[in-house]
Amino acid sequence: MKKIAILGSTGSIGTQTLDIVREQKDLQVTALAAGRNAVLLEKQIREFHPKMAALWDERAAADLRIRIKDLDVRVLSGMEGLLTIAQMPESEILVTAIVGMLGIRPTIVAIEAGKNIALANKETLVTAGHIIMPLARKKNISILPVDSEHSAIFQSLNGEQENAIHKILLTASGGPFRGKKTADLQNIQVEQALQHPNWSMGKKITIDSATMVNKGLEVMEAKWLFDVELEQIQVLVHPQSVIHSMVEYEDGAVIAQLGTPDMRLPIQYALYYPKRRKLSGKRLDFFELASLAFEKPDLDTFQGLKLAFTAMKQGGNIPTAYNAANEKAVSLFLENKISFLQIPELIQACMEQCSYKEQPNVEQILETEAEVYAYIESRW
Ligand code: NDP
Repeated sequence: MKKIAILGSTGSIGTQTLDIVREQKDLQVTALAAGRNAVLLEKQIREFHPKMAALWDERAAADLRIRIKDLDVRVLSGMEGLLTIAQMPESEILVTAIVGMLGIRPTIVAIEAGKNIALANKETLVTAGHIIMPLARKKNISILPVDSEHSAIFQSLNGEQENAIHKILLTASGGPFRGKKTADLQNIQVEQALQHPNWSMGKKITIDSATMVNKGLEVMEAKWLFDVELEQIQVLVHPQSVIHSMVEYEDGAVIAQLGTPDMRLPIQYALYYPKRRKLSGKRLDFFELASLAFEKPDLDTFQGLKLAFTAMKQGGNIPTAYNAANEKAVSLFLENKISFLQIPELIQACMEQCSYKEQPNVEQILETEAEVYAYIESRW
């Protein structure tokens, strides 16, 4: 039995991870953590029998304790809950499927405790990649990507350890507004932005796909995960989401991973790497695929993607400013407090006013996040 703990078990990635556990039968869940959804967490606890559970929200955790008082499960709350679960001796792999920079500290303590990381929480690498990756190397820990594009790159690198990457071709569906121009995006409503053409995901990442900020975050994630220069990463709009990403080698060979848009595949690959397991679900039918198309990303319309390259070039705590501003802007947009096009405007304003720190430590990253939040709250 492989033992896994999941942070963010009630979310899109978390529940699909549990689908894998249900299907494969040889994974043991040691702990589950979520934000405030005590009802679903209770169901998951009764089905998967973890030793420990945590809810960020103290009142929700108290409610959960009452709900499961007939069970012998320790219920924790807040950051202490996440940190305890991240390093518990019983687990081998930590699945980081919470949203946001909250994932940084649990990921660090898990690496220090010798756990491999199945990483969905890209914000951790975007903001603290310079801390996480060297630490993982030092501790001989694998950071196994769950993001479908990074999993595709990871799979395309299999058996190629001796060969340098010439270029990473990071594919993007283009989101629901592909082909639109700035003028078309003036009055976009929340419901329209939540309609992703190919993938079903959590709300925050779905909005990030509509702005293409998600691709920006993925560019930064890829740079840290695969240790390449920014110039070696090319974003390619590929509306069908069949090719999940590719690696071009120095001899011009391009290796890709293809599949249906189903997050369970990259999740399962991370959990069992380097083994492949049978997985239920639809298979690609090449006769059904009429054609595969590729386009250049429209950086004038999707400023969020352009700003990601600027943030990464500037480095230091600027990617943190980018990410924090986006997190806040997305929640304001979801509350109908700002327009769709204001999301990149806020990001740019926060990047410009951020006081630069070259090699921020975790405290400085979290300070930058707090400063960005305060700046946005004072202005919008
Ligand atoms: P969801 O919004 O669907 O789920 C988020 C999860 O995090 C929920 O379990 C939520 O609990 C939990 N959570 C929220 N706040 C806290 C907190 N303060 N403390 C502990 N847990 C918390 O997100 P996704 O699953 O879509 O995304 C998770 C991560 O994976 C993100 O970083 C995203 O970018 C990345 N990712 C997602 C993909 C996808 O297909 N969804 C694809 C690739 C990457 P609760 O339900 O109680 O609020």
